[in-house]
Amino acid sequence: MKDAAPQTIYLKDYTPPSYLVDSVHLTFRLSPEHTRVVSRIEFRPNPEAANRDFFLHGEELRLHSARINGAEVTPQMTLEGLTCEVPDAPFVWESDVEISPVANTALEGLYISNGMYSTQCEAQGFRKITYYPDRPDVMATFTVRIESDLPVLLSNGNPVAQGDGFAEWHDPWPKPAYLFALVAGDLINHPDTFTTKSGKDVELNIWVRPGDEDKCAFGMEALKKSMKWDEDVYGREYDLDIFNIVAVDDFNMGAMENKGLNIFNSSCVLASPETSTDANFERIEAIIAHEYFHNWTGNRITCRDWFQLCLKEGLTVFRDSQFTSDMRSAPVKRIEDVIALRGRQFREDNGPLAHPVRPDSFVEINNFYTATVYEKGAELIGMLKTLVGDADYAKALDLYFDRHDGDAATIEDWLKVFEDTTGRDLTQFKRWYEQAGTPRLSVSEAFEDGTYTLTFKQDTLPTPGQDHKDPRVIPIAVGLLNPNGDEVVPTTILEMTGAEQSFRFEGLAAKPVPSILRDFSAPVILQRESSDQERAFLLAHDTDPFNKWEAGRALARSGLIAMIRDGAAPDTGHLDALQAVVRDDTLDPAFRALAIGLPSQDDLAQTLVNLGEVPDPMAIWQAVEVLKQTIAQHMQDLLPRIYAQYQVDDAYRADADQAGARALANAALALISRVDGGAQAQAQYDKADNMTQQLAALGCLIGANKGDKAVQAFYEQWRHDRLVIDKWFSLQIAYSDPDHAAEIARALTDHPDFTMKNPNRFRATLGALAGHPAGFHHASGAGYALLTDWLLKLDPINPQTTARMCSAFETWKRYDADRQSMILAQLDRILGQQGLSRDTTEMITRIRSA
Ligand SMILES: [Zn+2]
Repeated sequence: MKDAAPQTIYLKDYTPPSYLVDSVHLTFRLSPEHTRVVSRIEFRPNPEAANRDFFLHGEELRLHSARINGAEVTPQMTLEGLTCEVPDAPFVWESDVEISPVANTALEGLYISNGMYSTQCEAQGFRKITYYPDRPDVMATFTVRIESDLPVLLSNGNPVAQGDGFAEWHDPWPKPAYLFALVAGDLINHPDTFTTKSGKDVELNIWVRPGDEDKCAFGMEALKKSMKWDEDVYGREYDLDIFNIVAVDDFNMGAMENKGLNIFNSSCVLASPETSTDANFERIEAIIAHEYFHNWTGNRITCRDWFQLCLKEGLTVFRDSQFTSDMRSAPVKRIEDVIALRGRQFREDNGPLAHPVRPDSFVEINNFYTATVYEKGAELIGMLKTLVGDADYAKALDLYFDRHDGDAATIEDWLKVFEDTTGRDLTQFKRWYEQAGTPRLSVSEAFEDGTYTLTFKQDTLPTPGQDHKDPRVIPIAVGLLNPNGDEVVPTTILEMTGAEQSFRFEGLAAKPVPSILRDFSAPVILQRESSDQERAFLLAHDTDPFNKWEAGRALARSGLIAMIRDGAAPDTGHLDALQAVVRDDTLDPAFRALAIGLPSQDDLAQTLVNLGEVPDPMAIWQAVEVLKQTIAQHMQDLLPRIYAQYQVDDAYRADADQAGARALANAALALISRVDGGAQAQAQYDKADNMTQQLAALGCLIGANKGDKAVQAFYEQWRHDRLVIDKWFSLQIAYSDPDHAAEIARALTDHPDFTMKNPNRFRATLGALAGHPAGFHHASGAGYALLTDWLLKLDPINPQTTARMCSAFETWKRYDADRQSMILAQLDRILGQQGLSRDTTEMITRIRSA
């Protein structure tokens, strides 16, 4: 039934649904191989529809019977569902279908993970549960009855009845089918309560497998903080009597915001100091917030169609970034976000998979849960807020919630609330949603008679299907410093609308040093000829923390590029400037830890491409190694002092202060290990009582070639903990030398604990290889071949996870002819596989056609 030729779906073809649904009643009789789903659905004709064609999606379902208004009918089956003659008036549809959760390895629809039933319906998984108009603009109230001997039976909304072998749930808020969820299993809850600002008590639970109950406390605190924050900052209150979170081991994504019943990849909710790193804690806090915030931005106001995915995701990512900034350090969060944006989204935006934040076509929507839709989508919200100001942003959001509560909305609706609030015309801003590619912003400057002029030019390279790009609105945050390092013009927002535009600053005593694109005010590539001397000056004096960090990063990048291209020695100016930052105790330790970090190897490869060169992954890796070694030697006296100063003696807390101290100490340790042969790392490993310290030390030991014993000991200590063992898999690959990375990854796929059926384990192994540029792009081609072998094995089992990992090949055009032909051979091998999934076919075809 699913072997139809892949069809392309276009935004321009959208038509309203022919029939709307008022209510849905579902009964599940759970059984691993023969679950029965009995539905009773009230339909009525949609007055806004162009026709009366009745179509219900359905895949991999066995239909036992169907009735309309009580009379048995025989629908016509199609490749993607069924059609039927129906009355041109309200009617009741009933069906009885059979599904096999145990056979569902794709993890879409209803499946079994470690003996527990779970669902994942976004984007189009509900059609694997029963026949239904599985599209987000059909919203209905759901009543669900679950029949099973399992002790815990959960669904959306509020509990209405339960007894021996059954439970019933009712969700009063109309929702699209993608927000449906069901969980059944032998689970233990970590309970709590939250009182909303209007005084309503909400029951909270985190449900986990027995044995994991001591890893829920942090997630629960994060949930309560999120609920409070959304009331305080956005005025949004929770709207059911109960909020449940469930941890599931086998899950394709991070987590899912099903109404009142969030389902989480266990890696994104379970946390304890012994098993989770500081980074894990921060991520868990952010993901819990993200899914909770969807209750308003996604659930109460949903998307009209999947092209509007960024409407809920861009806004919700922006909201969770604001939350993390409020809970932790705003500058550190901004730097981390930009590192991630450049690492994933810029790479996507400048390659064969580039697509607009709101795509205009797709074959498989699962392939569009991308960094562009999520992270660039969030950047657009940030720019909009910068352009209209905080007060008007708040007013526009209030209007959005008032006007569209209960709607399936569009980007046009979203922009209209800003236009109505501010009187602005956002026609040009909308190009950010429609045009793919990262704009390049070049700058020139002039100074005459006290007037300083900055002239900007913007252009965007062609992307697949889009040759021409119109100029976009770019908010450019600029500050000016005088030659003494004092700020003479504080942060000012320049609003660029043309392809080329100048801005003047008058009354200056001397030619200033500009700090451009402060706080990364727009997702663009800033191209500015600048001297290393000026970068060092900004690193020392800029009052904007982001640009201060950025100056250090630019300094490191230009030094590394000179080393790679010209065989230059490491730049001592950079080393001295870096040392001054690391030594400066007035700066946040977390900031200093980020400042020690170097540009990623992927970033350096792209920089070389921008300079018209063909990057050699091995030469890049070697330059980074040499620079790290040189920094370690240059700061040999300072680093042990920093390391000692930032040891945390208090009991472990996962807060920003302690995490920042540990980050700086561990950054120092990584460098110390390059000169002391791993002695300090071994000492830390031996006494570590938390995973942040233990894992950092283990990485240093592997990097120093002293890791064999610790790797073995770590496995023995943690073999019972699947999430820690994921780290054990990925770390061995991440810290391996490029000549052995593929071999180590291959050996790990033979390990008894390796399983491709668990997406976390698959990503921890093959994803770690893809994330090791010099190892993956090794001249032998072993990395390409190994990844391809496993993509081919995984595709029939889990197309979604397979397709996502294909993006490892997206940069193939950067490389030399030998690597290109090796990659092309692997891409063709994948495309040649019989019965390749729609997901993977689309991804490889797009990458191949670059
Ligand atoms: Zn989301």
